[in-house]
Amino acid sequence: MTPDLIARFADITGPAHALVTPQDIAPYLVESRGLYHGSSPLVLRPGSVEEVSAILALASETGTAVVPQGGNTGHVGGAAPREGQSDVVLSLARLNRIREVDPVGNVIVADAGAVLAEIQRAAEAADRLFPLSLGSEGSCQIGGNLSTNAGGTAVLAYGGVRQLCLGLEVVLPTGEIWNGLRRLRKDNTGYDLRDLFIGAEGTLGVITGAVLRLFPRPLGHEVALAGLKSPADALKLFERAAERCGMALTGFELMPRLGVDFTMRHIPGVRDPLAGRHDWYALVDVSTSDSAEAARRMIEVLLSEGIETGLIEDAVIAESETQRQALWHMRESMSPAQKPEGGSIKHDVSVPVASIPAFMAEADAAVLAAIPGARICAFGHMGDGNIHYNVSQPVGADTAAFVARRREINALVHGLVRKYEGSISAEHGIGQMKRDELAEVRAGIEIELMRRVKRAFDPAGIMNPGKVLAQDRSTPGSG
Ligand code: FAD
Repeated sequence: MTPDLIARFADITGPAHALVTPQDIAPYLVESRGLYHGSSPLVLRPGSVEEVSAILALASETGTAVVPQGGNTGHVGGAAPREGQSDVVLSLARLNRIREVDPVGNVIVADAGAVLAEIQRAAEAADRLFPLSLGSEGSCQIGGNLSTNAGGTAVLAYGGVRQLCLGLEVVLPTGEIWNGLRRLRKDNTGYDLRDLFIGAEGTLGVITGAVLRLFPRPLGHEVALAGLKSPADALKLFERAAERCGMALTGFELMPRLGVDFTMRHIPGVRDPLAGRHDWYALVDVSTSDSAEAARRMIEVLLSEGIETGLIEDAVIAESETQRQALWHMRESMSPAQKPEGGSIKHDVSVPVASIPAFMAEADAAVLAAIPGARICAFGHMGDGNIHYNVSQPVGADTAAFVARRREINALVHGLVRKYEGSISAEHGIGQMKRDELAEVRAGIEIELMRRVKRAFDPAGIMNPGKVLAQDRSTPGSG
C-alpha cells in the first residue's frame, strides 16, 4: 500500500485513529487464541458511521481489502487479516454508543462497537433483560456477535442473536449506508436483508448499528449443579427439565469430570460444590417472570425426582447470586482451563440433541483409537445440541506433534457430525478455519448461491476476502 493511499485513509479518521506503527498495529493482527496471525499496513478506528462509509468508498475505489474487527474474541480466524497481504483492519471499537433504550417497545438501539456487557448493563438500568450471554461478554462487541450469529448460554429460552435482532444499519462495500434500523416484530416486505448480514462474518458489509429485543427481567432465577453417570443420563435429565420447566428452562450445560478437574487446577476461585466425584455434570439454569417461588419449586421438583429415580447422583442448588455466578464461572472456565494442559484440538459442533450420547461415544472411540491417552473434554450447550468437543494432548506428549494431527482428528470428529446430520460449526462461524470444509459439507448449489450473494453485495471482493468462502478469482479485489 502506497504512503499516499495510507494518507488518504488517515484523512478520513484523523491521524490519531489511523495506526501505522508495528507496535500499535500488533494487537489487531492476532486472534484471541493465538491460532491466527496476519499482517496489515494500517488499522483504522472510525468514530462515526459516515467515516466507515468514506473508508469503504475509498477501499472500493482502490480495490483495498478491509477486515472488520470487533472485540477480536472470535475463534475461527475471521477478524484477523490475511498473512502477506495489505488488508486494512477496520476496528469498530470507537463506535460504541448505546443510542436508545425503549422499555415500552422493549428494544435497545446500539452502535456495533458497543461491548456486549455494556448492552446488558444498559438494559438492566431500564429494568429489562438483554439475554445474549457469552464467556467473552466483557470484550466482544454486538457487531461481532451479529456477524458471527453468536449463540451462548441462553439460546434455549431466547434463541441466538439472530432471534434477538430486529433491525440493522450496515455500510455496504461501496460506502452506501443501508438504514434498516426497524423495530417491528412483524415485517414481511420482501427479502430479509438483515438476515443475510447476520452470520456473514464481515464478508458482505460492515454492521454499524442494531435494534435488539429486550425482555422483562426474570423474578425468579435458580441455578443447580447435578452429578451424573453419563451423557445418556444427562439427556434424560434434559428431557425432564424441558417437560417440567418449559420456557423457564434457560440453560442446560454439560460438563465432564475432566473439565471440572482442569478448572479447579488452573482457574482461581473455582471449586466443586458437590462432595463426591461424578463422571458428568449438568448445570441447569431456570428463570421465570412470574415469581421467585415458581423457579424454586421447579428446580426442587426436578432435582428431587431425579435423585429419587437414581438419575442424579447428587445435586446442589445455588443459594445466592454469588453461588449462581460461581457455578456459571466453573462452566465458563472450561475452555480457558484447557490451555495450561498443552495442545488442544477443538470442535464447535452440533447434532440433534437426542443423538448427543451416541455421537460422543463414537467420537470418543475414534479419537482414542487414533491417539491413545488423548484427554477428551467435551462440554457445552447440551440443550441446543451444541458440544465443544475438545481433545487435550495425552499427559507428557509432545505438543507440536499432537497439534500437527489437528486435520486428521477434525476429519474423524466432523465425519461423525455429518453421520449424525449435525453441523461442523454450531456457533463460532466459518472464518478461515473451516472455510475449506464448508465446501464439503454444503451442497454445490448452496455454495454457488452463497457466491452469488457475495458477488451481488461485494462485486469488487474487498470485504474480508478469504473468509467463509474461498477467494473468487473472478473478482478483482479478492485475490
Ligand atoms: P470479532 O472476533 O472481532 O469478529 C468476528 C467476525 O465478525 C469476524 O469475521 C469479523 O470480521 C466480523 N465482524 C466483527 N465486527 C463486525 C461488524 N461490525 N460488521 C461486520 N463484521 C464484523 N461464541 C458463541 O457464539 N458462544 C459462546 O458461548 C462463546 N463463548 C466464548 C467464550 C470465550 C471465553 C471466548 C474468548 C469466545 C467465545 N465465543 C463464543 C466466541 C466469540 O466471543 C464470538 O464469536 C463473538 O460473537 C465474537 O465477537 P467479537 O466482537 O469479538 O468479534
